[in-house]
Amino acid sequence: MTRIVHLNGDWLPEAEAKVSVFDRGFLMGDGVYEVTSVLGGKLIDFEGHCRRLDRSLKELGMPNPHTDDEWLALHHEIVRLNDIGDGSIYLQVTRGNGGDRDFMYPNPPVPQTVVMFTQSKPGLAQNPQATTGLKVISLPEMRWHRRDIKTVQLLYPSMCKMAAKAAGADDAWFVEDGAVTEGTSNNAWIVKDGKIITRQLSNDLLHGITRASVIRFAKEAQMEIIERPFTIEEAQAADEAFITSAGVFVMPVVEIDGKKLGDGKPGRVATRLRELYLDESLKAAM
Ligand code: PMP
Repeated sequence: MTRIVHLNGDWLPEAEAKVSVFDRGFLMGDGVYEVTSVLGGKLIDFEGHCRRLDRSLKELGMPNPHTDDEWLALHHEIVRLNDIGDGSIYLQVTRGNGGDRDFMYPNPPVPQTVVMFTQSKPGLAQNPQATTGLKVISLPEMRWHRRDIKTVQLLYPSMCKMAAKAAGADDAWFVEDGAVTEGTSNNAWIVKDGKIITRQLSNDLLHGITRASVIRFAKEAQMEIIERPFTIEEAQAADEAFITSAGVFVMPVVEIDGKKLGDGKPGRVATRLRELYLDESLKAAM
């Protein structure tokens, strides 16, 4: 089955969707994106992703090309056209084709480029890694200081995922001024004496949508959440660790910089939060 993608209002076979070489997303990384998971054909945490998209666009001085209802209809249509059961929907909005290469934004503004595509991932919620856990390494934080904006500038995270793989690990956590900011493509958490700890929101990290939902569900379940920075040493001495993202939901971490946490198996709290997140977000799926 040929993948059908969305480009500026059209539905096209992927090979026919073409974007200009002068698109600012391509030349300048001048664009933002969102990834929404699909389980059983339904969108997980869609409203959160829509709100963050709007915020990212505002922070970069771009209008939102669609209303939330229009975005929802586009998401439902791309799920239908590609017959997605489990998987994800990627959407990207760039400042568009300025007609030439120029650091200055096009003035007057030009139409933005809107791209959407699906990735089919059957069994997404049954990821076997959830039963074995991930190994992470720490690497220096070298991204720009507006990590709260979900831009398409992903080169450093990409380099770090490669470095993690080369080191025999699954992923990397970034460290700045002695504390963990977040993972390459996920938020970082530890658990100590039943307390669930994750860094507070700021420009230093992406405001994860899964993070926000996990905090809400955990509080509703009377679990204690503390939002503050933590060091790698503290994480290595924690009872448990895990990451959250739309792609992996809640995923246990069992080793940090070669040091096993506890018995080296996914922790009870991380496993419980994964179940809680999947149950609750499926109930609210659209
Ligand atoms: N931090 C970074 C740097 C990310 O790329 C992501 C994934 N987009 C996250 C955190 C997790 O965010 P979310 O839960 O919204 O997927």
